[in-house]
Amino acid sequence: MCNFSKITTNWKQKVTKMAKKDTDKDLLKEKGFLSQRQDDHFAMRLHAAGGNVTSDYLRAVADAADKYGKGYVHITSRQGVEIPFVHLDDTEAASETMLSAGIGPGASGKKIRAVVACQGDRVCKRGLIDCQEMCEKIDELYFAAPVPYKFKIAVTGCPASCLKVQENDFGIMGFEEPVFVEENCVMCRQCEKACEVSAIKIEDGSLYLDMHKCVACGRCIGACKKDAMRTKDKGFTIFVGGKVGKRPRMGNMLLRTCDSDEVFDILERTINYYRENALEGERLGDVIDRCGLDSFGETVK
Ligand code: SF4
Ligand code: SF4
Ligand code: SF4
Repeated sequence: MCNFSKITTNWKQKVTKMAKKDTDKDLLKEKGFLSQRQDDHFAMRLHAAGGNVTSDYLRAVADAADKYGKGYVHITSRQGVEIPFVHLDDTEAASETMLSAGIGPGASGKKIRAVVACQGDRVCKRGLIDCQEMCEKIDELYFAAPVPYKFKIAVTGCPASCLKVQENDFGIMGFEEPVFVEENCVMCRQCEKACEVSAIKIEDGSLYLDMHKCVACGRCIGACKKDAMRTKDKGFTIFVGGKVGKRPRMGNMLLRTCDSDEVFDILERTINYYRENALEGERLGDVIDRCGLDSFGETVK
């Protein structure tokens, strides 16, 4: 009887200690510290959007990695920055150091993650949209906002989709659709060479533009020096419901063509729809599969 009482007391102490530890871990997670397999060690996740960070950011991170970690940084699959091996005792100081350098914690858990983006038309020759501008605006509006599970947003500058927008809950892609102006054409074949999906064929003195094959990359428009391949439409294509992980799902193309204002309107309505309709543990793609793409589309468009 006496032994049983002792076991019960020890167990209660252990559970209380464990509960406290879990609570501490939750609080630490809120501050960007992800628990490691090594006891009392954490990877400090830092906020970085669009894969662009300044040299000052990098210097501050390098100093923190030397001081609080093991002198190295892990770059995550979503352009994020983590400093592994920060000891529990150093978490507060590490957090304050980063905040004083203007670097906040990264998001994890049931929050909207930092937006990822390619360099877009500021740098990449193929870029059709300013991905970094869109990324900055979206991140400012939604970074770390609460959602039912997790929500990932990507912006990519053209249909090459280097940022894999189809794997994100909400993907934004630049597009430029051509129109052929026959009277200006001198049949130089530059557009045919530029098209990587064989949507343009020149045969028997005629040019054929197959819009079923065309992915709207705009390369033929840039290649034509005679103003015979012009821009018919240019803007943003939206994908929804993509994810990877244990049950991958390719995003659905929700709108092939829209402008920047429409992107923001649809994103706002999509996040609201997700908040209102998701069941426990569901990503947006799961909600779309359960409620139907048409029903979702009618609500958010
Ligand atoms: S998606 Fe297009 S614009 Fe962006 S990096 Fe790739 S090729 Fe360049
Ligand atoms: S826009 Fe791109 S895919 Fe379409 S025809 Fe021109 S080069 Fe080919
Ligand atoms: S590049 Fe322009 S001029 Fe040359 S074949 Fe194509 S459309 Fe005609």
